[in-house]
Amino acid sequence: MRQHLLLRCLTAFLILSVVMTSSACLMTQISTAQTTPTASAAVKTDSVKTEKKGPLIAVDAGHQKYEDGRMEKADPDKNGRKIRNTSGCSGASTGMPEYKYTLKIAKKLKKELEKRGYRVYMTRTKNAVKFSNRERALKINKKKAAACIRLHCDSFGSSASGASIQYRSKTNSYISKKVAKKNTRLSRCILKKYCKATKMKNRGLVSRNDLTGCNWAKVPTTLIEMGFFSNPREERKMLKASFQKKMVKGIADGFDAYFKR
Ligand SMILES: [Zn+2]
Repeated sequence: MRQHLLLRCLTAFLILSVVMTSSACLMTQISTAQTTPTASAAVKTDSVKTEKKGPLIAVDAGHQKYEDGRMEKADPDKNGRKIRNTSGCSGASTGMPEYKYTLKIAKKLKKELEKRGYRVYMTRTKNAVKFSNRERALKINKKKAAACIRLHCDSFGSSASGASIQYRSKTNSYISKKVAKKNTRLSRCILKKYCKATKMKNRGLVSRNDLTGCNWAKVPTTLIEMGFFSNPREERKMLKASFQKKMVKGIADGFDAYFKR
């Protein structure tokens, strides 16, 4: 009888041990199951953070639907005064307005830059806005963008062709030497890569100190004339989606070269 009791106690002890071991395994599994998603969430958060940390680029689609003929200070010294903004030129072949075209390219450029890990600030996302050139520059300053590109189309006769850049050089008294140096490098990078991607004629850099949007900018800024809208052949080429892809790639490559990415 005693032996029988001892055997029952031993059996009970063995069953208890097995249950406890299983529970421990289960607990381990639960705790593993709990830690796994946390770890993957941390990885996800990190990758999102890395993407968000890319340099902030301001993209200013030149002009707007509503011409604003009022005057504004063209520079911080209050010397010059210029019209707040215009609707720009229009294509010689189709009549495409410059303001519509620059926004179209700006939106495509935003997508491409974001794909490459940059953050993008657009001064406008609609055509029917009323932002003067000075106001656009002040907005960009406030955002503390790492660089800014202003998108425009050229207009001068039906045979002129190619791309050029207008920028503020060190001869501009409104900007620091440090920013002037960055402007020059940014402009060179953008134009070189743009012409390489589009095979457009490189018309070079033009230093200008009378551009309101550039005079008020405190961040490295460049203004690209993407091609001649006054040239019907060039305008037709610029309206093709396949060509626009090259234009956008060229500008994005220029930023990659400038930021050494
Ligand atoms: Zn323009």
